Amino acid sequence: MRFVTDLLSVADALSRVLERAEALPAERVVLTRAASRVSAEAVVSAVDVPPFRSSSMDGYAVRAADLPARLAIADRAAAGRPSRATLAPGQAIEISTGAVVPDGADTVVPVERVEVDGDAVTIPEPVPTRDNIREPGGDVRAGSKLVSPGDVLTPARLGALAACGIESVMVHRVPHVTIVVTGTELRPPGEPLAPGQIYESNGVMLAAVMEAAGATVTRLAATEDTEDAHSASLEEALSSDVVVTSGGVSVGPHDLVRRVQTRLGVEEVFWGVAMRPGKPLAFGFRGRTLVFGLPGNPVSALVGALLFVRPALLALTGHPDPAPPFRPGTLAASISQRPERDDFVRARVTWADDGALVQPIVGQESHMIAHTMAATGLVWIPRGPGSLEAGSRVRFLPL
Ligand code: AMP
Ligand code: MG
Repeated sequence: MRFVTDLLSVADALSRVLERAEALPAERVVLTRAASRVSAEAVVSAVDVPPFRSSSMDGYAVRAADLPARLAIADRAAAGRPSRATLAPGQAIEISTGAVVPDGADTVVPVERVEVDGDAVTIPEPVPTRDNIREPGGDVRAGSKLVSPGDVLTPARLGALAACGIESVMVHRVPHVTIVVTGTELRPPGEPLAPGQIYESNGVMLAAVMEAAGATVTRLAATEDTEDAHSASLEEALSSDVVVTSGGVSVGPHDLVRRVQTRLGVEEVFWGVAMRPGKPLAFGFRGRTLVFGLPGNPVSALVGALLFVRPALLALTGHPDPAPPFRPGTLAASISQRPERDDFVRARVTWADDGALVQPIVGQESHMIAHTMAATGLVWIPRGPGSLEAGSRVRFLPL
């Protein structure tokens, strides 16, 4: 057991989290369940795509050397219904998009450029060879690599795998997270409040962050501020890949999370990050389970989840670049810095020709989750002695 009392920088805290967040083992899943998962293997196509010479237009397969001409329509070829005929000089074969171009034909004339009467087609202009013909392997050559380990299975990648006849892929398992919200004052929405009670709001909010990161989430009922209740909830949660608690992680007499976790064998990696909101954030592990203790104030919990938990979940899922995707922007109003802690300021982001403009919202206190609805970005104001003037370059995390 080790308590680190000095506040870690945000960057150091994140790298300590990511050091422990190794990609989970791989499993084979069918493509229909693989969207947004991360490939754990290189996948090579065994086939050419397209597999045969095919038409890219509805029209007539002909010999370019015959044109211009009036040609006899010898047969019809549709997608999935190839013509058995070989095209002879002076003939055309009606063809639809995706159909096999018959042997003997070397170009396809679109239907818009011909005149049909009965069993004959008149093509008034010459056309180049190979027009409107897709060559075999023009999209994928047999033996070429479609996906590498670490590639996220985007819609286009899934489409390409399916186009090559692949039905399943090895992907990293997604983490199972259990959320433990603590606080005797918490009541579920929908029930009446007794004096001193508030509605429990962190559970649904944190679950949304984690599900969006691809995790499967279990939420336990709110845990009262007693050691027994904490022990029961935490022991149950510790069978997951990741435990996220909210509340009870500060220094008050009812802040029991760290003490109980220590008793249950959780080794603390750090407690306290030089940031606002969300300073009393704890991170530890037991075996392969990662354990995050987020503060109870809703905005603090949200910021901690976005800066540390989401990256950990992405790393467990196999993402090669899990760090929060901060982007450059320009401050619309001046902000004073804090000497000892980085500030994560909620802001409205607007896009101008020269990039993003970030305007801090009104209502920056850490319990003001409803004010936070107006924010579309989280601006990173580094700690320092002075202030950042309007027009300063900053980095923000899109929300
Ligand atoms: P704590 O971190 O437990 O000291 O809680 C800090 C503040 O956040 C207190 O005002 C709590 O009532 C509030 N809080 C804690 N957990 C939740 C929760 N799950 N939903 C809404 N508010 C909470
Ligand atoms: Mg509490």
